[in-house]
Amino acid sequence: MFQGLKDYTVVRKKRKIRSYDHAARNCGRDRSRLQEELLNRGRKRREALHERLKQNRMQRHNQHTNPTKEVEKMADVFDSFKTSIVEDMEIQNLTKDEYEDMMVFLEEAFVKDMRREEFRLLQEFVDREEEQQNQADCAAWELECNLQQHQDSITCPLCMSGAWFLSSQNVISCTNCSAKLNLGNDPISMSNIQDHIASLYDRHQCTGKLEFEIRCDFGVQNLIGFCRTCGNMEVVV
Ligand SMILES: [Zn+2]
Ligand SMILES: [Zn+2]
Repeated sequence: MFQGLKDYTVVRKKRKIRSYDHAARNCGRDRSRLQEELLNRGRKRREALHERLKQNRMQRHNQHTNPTKEVEKMADVFDSFKTSIVEDMEIQNLTKDEYEDMMVFLEEAFVKDMRREEFRLLQEFVDREEEQQNQADCAAWELECNLQQHQDSITCPLCMSGAWFLSSQNVISCTNCSAKLNLGNDPISMSNIQDHIASLYDRHQCTGKLEFEIRCDFGVQNLIGFCRTCGNMEVVV
């Protein structure tokens, strides 16, 4: 789950209060009449707002998504929807309070529910993407393993492209990256290690990405599998 969405807040941009000398003047400064006018204008533009949001959603599917950017883009769409309605009212000498009041009114009347719905859709999309990534990682790992012809070598879980070989000193090293794992007197075989890794992939059910690293604690080296999303950590070897 993309955690950033939870902490989302609207950052209000500083903007110049514009003043105009015609239109909406029939409403004078009567708050309820102004709100009625805002409702009229909001209704007329709601379709365009839907369309913009829909376009953004479609774009999201066609390119690599950056959720933070998506949130900003969404905020901009809603922001310009409200801003343009208020500014097009062309009210003379609009005070900051009046301006804010109208923006809040539009937020409540049109934007709030749509904003919530858009967030829900974005969250769903991000979750789905992570899930797909996770499945792709699993598949890539299995494929790599199947491709490994050599009985005594397995795919390096760290770089996912080199092969691990065991030396006569019982030290594993990778043909591609700098991974080195000293097994000491541990009689474990390469296929045991492969089974352990496969079982970890099997049991890991969250949508996060399983990562591996070699840690050295108290002079003993271990291969650790961990996930930054669910926080699970397990010693593989
Ligand atoms: Zn490697
Ligand atoms: Zn996880």
